[in-house]
Amino acid sequence: MSIRRISAVIPATLEMPNQVVPSSERQQLVLTELRKADREMSGQDLHAMLRQSSQPLGLATVYRHLRQLQQRGSIRCRHLPSGEALFAPTERDEHHLTCVDCGATVSIENCPMHDVHLGGDQTAGFQLLFHTLEFFGLCGSCQQRQARLDLAKAVVH
Ligand SMILES: [Zn+2]
Ligand SMILES: [Zn+2]
Repeated sequence: MSIRRISAVIPATLEMPNQVVPSSERQQLVLTELRKADREMSGQDLHAMLRQSSQPLGLATVYRHLRQLQQRGSIRCRHLPSGEALFAPTERDEHHLTCVDCGATVSIENCPMHDVHLGGDQTAGFQLLFHTLEFFGLCGSCQQRQARLDLAKAVVH
């Protein structure tokens, strides 16, 4: 009976099991790499970085750990207009301004939400973990390019 119970808790996975290092340690490794990095990282970035370490992880494994870390509130995810997902530890209170045309991103110096707190009656019993905040706009060069395009259209008509 105990054998059946144990087999029931082993998660189904499409990958070949790599049991050299326990899963929890590999997840910690992903989180440690993200905390060491001075910028947001994609799954591909992390995969490439970990390939050079003593504990290389498959790309699907990296993404699975990223998803689990998100579910625990340890990391957050931001999507660029290109669809690329970037990850950062939630304790890092950093936000960005992104160009909707070319996808250029700059980080905002100070978080305007830093001192904003939800009252106890607004949290519906949730344990608050982090917030996200994003600004979008048109960068200088995209404004110029779009203005030139508009001008060209006006000449044609
Ligand atoms: Zn732009
Ligand atoms: Zn913030």
